[in-house]
Amino acid sequence: MSTQLSAGSTIETRCTRCKGILNHSIVAMVGEKIVRVECSTCHGVHAYHPAKALKGPAADKATSKKAAAPRKTKVDPEAAARAEWVELQPGMDSAQAIPYDMNRPFRLKNLLSHPNFGLGIVQLLIPPNKIDVLFQDGKKRLRCG
Ligand SMILES: [Zn+2]
Repeated sequence: MSTQLSAGSTIETRCTRCKGILNHSIVAMVGEKIVRVECSTCHGVHAYHPAKALKGPAADKATSKKAAAPRKTKVDPEAAARAEWVELQPGMDSAQAIPYDMNRPFRLKNLLSHPNFGLGIVQLLIPPNKIDVLFQDGKKRLRCG
């Protein structure tokens, strides 16, 4: 960028009549901006059409910042419950499982066997008459006595 452009300077730009990039003389400038040029080939005077403006870093302003970091996928509680059941399963002795009966009381860690859900471990007592039981299918809230 050694040459300072001014009226009278020759530059290469697109001629609207010749439809090509040709030498033009600068006819008029506003500040450092070329506004009118004269084609050296057809001598037509026309507005200066800058050859495809270079996209500088200024064009990167649009960088979006609004998108917050995506949340980490929460651990699926059901999957977690299944994993927990699998972990506890070796310790479950089905012979000692208490057949589930909604009228009998259960205690924490009781092993019970449910006609639909199979073996489960009482994980939470919810007074007055509910229990959370971890089954292979996940946690279930059951009635108890
Ligand atoms: Zn021309």
